[in-house]
Amino acid sequence: MSENVILKNISERTYEDAIAFHGHSCGGLALGYAAALYARELLDLNYSEDEEVVVITETDSCTVDSVQVILGCTAGKGNLFVNNWGKNAFTFYNRTTGKAVRLMMKPDFFKSNPEMDALRGKVFSGKADEKEAARYRELSNQRVADILSTPGSQIYDVKEPQQPIPEKAKIFDNIICPICGESVGDARCVEVGGQKICQFCVQTQK
Ligand SMILES: [Zn+2]
Ligand SMILES: [Zn+2]
Repeated sequence: MSENVILKNISERTYEDAIAFHGHSCGGLALGYAAALYARELLDLNYSEDEEVVVITETDSCTVDSVQVILGCTAGKGNLFVNNWGKNAFTFYNRTTGKAVRLMMKPDFFKSNPEMDALRGKVFSGKADEKEAARYRELSNQRVADILSTPGSQIYDVKEPQQPIPEKAKIFDNIICPICGESVGDARCVEVGGQKICQFCVQTQK
């Protein structure tokens, strides 16, 4: 990739860029944005053009999209590992320095708002009228503004990583699966009776 293909450096990436990628602004996106900024500060991170920054998330929520946009940990580069464990927790690694932190949302940070919770159900099931939908947007925007104006240190506890830095992404040789005849990454195949079989065929040919 030539240098002029790299779109923007990190200092120019904003919450608006995250919205453009994610499709909307929401509390989750703002929380992920706050985590990315805090990690950037704690670990001296730059936007990851390759795999210099790695993140393991413990949620698959809207938060993850901010991390992708702000730090360049993306689904395709092998430096984003998404776990669906339902925790607002993110372990960031700086491959250059070897430093890492696990940011865990403080247990008392998220205060549920009964009015918002009641409206959310209506809005997402399409049962809200215009006034209720507008009120929900207003409350949601307020929550986003609150998050964006709160320092990361008040949102997240800084903890030790629970696991070592993941290995770098591998580039595979391709082989031909003997069952389907399709080209497939060698290291992603399963060995059955001395033959390397693609995962689809392993799961469907039993
Ligand atoms: Zn969202
Ligand atoms: Zn196959």
